[in-house]
Amino acid sequence: MRTNQPVCVTGASGFVAAHIVRELLERGYRVRGTVRNAVQAGKYGFLTSLPGAGERLELVGADLLTAGAYDAAVAGCDIVIHTASPYLVNVADPQRDLVDPAVKGTLNVLQSARSAGVRRVVLTSSIAAICDEPVEGKVLTEADWNERSSLERNPYYFSKVSAERAAWKFVDERAAGFDLVAINPFMVVGPSIGPGLNVSNAIFRDLLTGVFPAIMNLAWGFVDVRDVATAHVAAIEHVDATGRYICAGDVLTMKEVIAILRDAGYGAGSKLPRLPLTSPIGDLAIKLLSYTQPRGSGSYLRTHVGKVMRYDNGKIRRDLGVHFRPARESLLAAVADLVRWGHVKPPLQGPSREPPSATASTP
Ligand code: NAP
Repeated sequence: MRTNQPVCVTGASGFVAAHIVRELLERGYRVRGTVRNAVQAGKYGFLTSLPGAGERLELVGADLLTAGAYDAAVAGCDIVIHTASPYLVNVADPQRDLVDPAVKGTLNVLQSARSAGVRRVVLTSSIAAICDEPVEGKVLTEADWNERSSLERNPYYFSKVSAERAAWKFVDERAAGFDLVAINPFMVVGPSIGPGLNVSNAIFRDLLTGVFPAIMNLAWGFVDVRDVATAHVAAIEHVDATGRYICAGDVLTMKEVIAILRDAGYGAGSKLPRLPLTSPIGDLAIKLLSYTQPRGSGSYLRTHVGKVMRYDNGKIRRDLGVHFRPARESLLAAVADLVRWGHVKPPLQGPSREPPSATASTP
C-alpha cells in the first residue's frame, strides 16, 4: 500500500517511533510526526536532522488526552502508524497515567483517522496484549489475549490490552472505513535515535549498575528496534497484511543476557550481578522481596519470575517477510548506545577497546 500522501506517525519522538520515522524517510515517504509539544521544535533535533527530514518530515503537536487533537495531524493521510502510548512500569495512578492515555488516545486517533478517510491504521500494540503471565508449556499465538492484567496487576499490560481491544471494537462497530493491523512486539532493544532512555533499554543500565542484586529466573523475548520499525513499514506496504502480528525474536534468560555482556567484556568495571537466585527457593525469595518494590515492578516480578514466555513468530515472518536479528547483536548495540548517550558511565569496559595511545595521554 504505497502512498504519495504523508504517513502520520503518532508519538514520533519515542524510541520505537523515531526508528519508524527514519525508515519511512529512508524509503522515500513523506512523514507527519506528532509530538507532545511541537512548539519546542529544538527538542526534536534528533528527528529533524535525519536524512530526508529537511524535505519530507513535518512535526505537529498532539496530546493523546485531547479530543480532536489528531484531526490536523491525520488530515490528507492515507496511512496512520499509532505508536504513542505511555510506556511506564511504576505510576502513581494507573487509570490516569496509563489506561486513559492508552485507550482514550487510541480512540481519539482512530476517530480522527475515520473522519479523514484514512485507508489503514497500524497500531503498535504489545506482547502485553497477548499474555500477562507466561503459562508453562504454552506457545502463544496471535489468537491469544491477555485476560488477567488489571489496574492492580501489571497495569502497563492492562493499558496495552485495553487499547488494542478498544481499537478492534472501534473497527468492528463503527464503520471505520480503514483496516487495522496490530504489531505486538515483546522487549524492544537496540540503538536509540534520541537522547532519552527507554524503559526496555534501561534494563541493561540496571544490570550494569547493580540495580539487580542477583541473577533472577526471568526471561524476555527480545526484538531489535530496527526490526520493529521494519515490521511497521512492512505492515503498510503489504496490502494483504491483516490482524495481529507477534513481533519478537530470541528468548533469553537473565543469566544468558549477563553471560553475553560478560563475554563482550562488560564485566570489568560494571556491577553485573553474580549471585544466582535461579532455583525454586530463589524464585520464592524474589517473590517475597517483590513486596518491597514499587507496585508495578513488584507485580511484574510476582507474575514472571520462574517462567518463560514462548511464542510463535511465524505469521510476521511469512506474511510480512520480517527477519529478526540475533538477540546478542541487539543487546550489544543497545549497551554500546547506552555508553554513547552517557546513560552508563565509565569505567565500564566494552568489547575490543583500544588502549589510549602515548601521544593522546601526553599533556
Ligand atoms: P517511548 O519512547 O516512551 O515512546 C512513547 C511515546 O508516546 C513518546 O513519543 C511519548 O511522548 C508518547 N506519549 C506518551 N504519553 C503521551 C500523551 N499523553 N500524549 C501524546 N504522546 C504521548 O516508548 P516506546 O518503547 O518507543 O513505545 C512506543 C510504543 O511501543 C508504545 O505504544 C509501547 O507500548 C509500544 N511497545 C514498546 C515496547 C518496548 O519494549 N519498548 C514493547 C512493546 C510495545 P513524549 O516523548 O512526549 O513522552
